[in-house]
Amino acid sequence: MKFDSTDLSLAKQFDEKDKLKNFRKEFVHADSKTIYLDGNSLGRLPFKTQKRLKKVVENEWGERLIKSWNDGWYELSSKVGSKIAKVIGAKENEVIAADSTSINLYKLVFAAIKASHGRNKIVTDEFNFPSDHYILQSIVNQLNNDYKIEIVKSRDGITIELDDLEKAIDENTAVVTLSHAAFKSAFLYDIEEVTKIAHKRGAYVVWDLSHSVGAVDIELNKANVDLAIGCTYKYLNGGPGAPAFLYVREDLQEKLSSPIWGWFGDKNPFDFNLQFREAEGIKKFMIGTPPILSLSAVDSSIDITLEAGIKNIRDKSVQLTEYLIYLINELLFPLDFTLGSPTDSSKRGSHVSIKHKEAYKIYKAIMDEQNEKIVIPDFREPDIIRLGVSSLYNSFEDVWEAVQIINEIVENRTFENYESGNDIVT
Ligand SMILES: *Cc1c(COP(=O)(O)O)cnc(C)c1O
Repeated sequence: MKFDSTDLSLAKQFDEKDKLKNFRKEFVHADSKTIYLDGNSLGRLPFKTQKRLKKVVENEWGERLIKSWNDGWYELSSKVGSKIAKVIGAKENEVIAADSTSINLYKLVFAAIKASHGRNKIVTDEFNFPSDHYILQSIVNQLNNDYKIEIVKSRDGITIELDDLEKAIDENTAVVTLSHAAFKSAFLYDIEEVTKIAHKRGAYVVWDLSHSVGAVDIELNKANVDLAIGCTYKYLNGGPGAPAFLYVREDLQEKLSSPIWGWFGDKNPFDFNLQFREAEGIKKFMIGTPPILSLSAVDSSIDITLEAGIKNIRDKSVQLTEYLIYLINELLFPLDFTLGSPTDSSKRGSHVSIKHKEAYKIYKAIMDEQNEKIVIPDFREPDIIRLGVSSLYNSFEDVWEAVQIINEIVENRTFENYESGNDIVT
């Protein structure tokens, strides 16, 4: 896309033409002063999910009590899994909603290691989410440190060179595990290409889709991906702490086993058999009772993504981030900001990182409730402000306004009135 004006009228023109513009009103906007650019951390609440939760609490739990397990609760993990499958290009029986992203990573990496006899290396990169690193470290620790983790470094702090990744993967590599979209820079891997490289050396791949699912069109089957995990509270709007999902390619489901055996992974939990008998298919990767309240929220919210269509969502997200980068160039570069994300949209997820040496104070200033309009982004150490756009509820005008607000606060040096220091959650 080419942009030739920083005027609001251009943003309005894009909004007018936007195919997805009507989805915005499906979401709760509690006030009109907030420009929410944090859907990559916690998506907005859809009205229909608010209603659904009321029903689950009042009717299914409040009135029907335990009977509700036979009225759909028991199948809900599979049902939600099959909806997620549609968003990531997988078969219905290859995905299940369960546990947290971190726990699912533990299960799948462990299963893959166990199935790659003798190989003792795990490859990841320095952009992967800290929790992913910790999970890998804990696995190595539990396996008596017989495994080593190789961390591929970035040359420019924004992207990873495929050559560097390829060099790290050898015949000793059991698993390659990466975030599809890097949480800081938004660098986006080519899933198909990397999977091919890993397979050439006989390694399994485990993709963490947390920062791309619901924003980027993903084709797991087409890319022949082995294993994947991801969360549902970011672009899928499942709500805080909503359960994550895991994907195991159909032909691997028999071969791989979960390292944690719980009754929901048993052939028939309600036999109450004392000896574990692994369930068939994807269910064997479940552990215990699913969180029905948040699972119901995901079940409802994800319908909006399915209705909008993931290709339309990705198209709009690319336009929004391109427009955002154009405005950053015009209005923020002169104020000592630099770009912390790839400029090539095929290598970028749905957020844009900007860097400034006073990033934390600027972040506090633009979120100050006293302001007439506020922007909610994320701050990431040491100097990053992350602006995430969600195609379902963000407009081009949101993007325009957010950049104006940042520009004003830095130009007027209002941010100097704010203390450095940290909130617990940024
Ligand atoms: C958000 C995110 C997680 C979160 O993990 P939880 O176990 O759900 O807390 C993990 N990995 C990545 C890449 C993420 O973006």
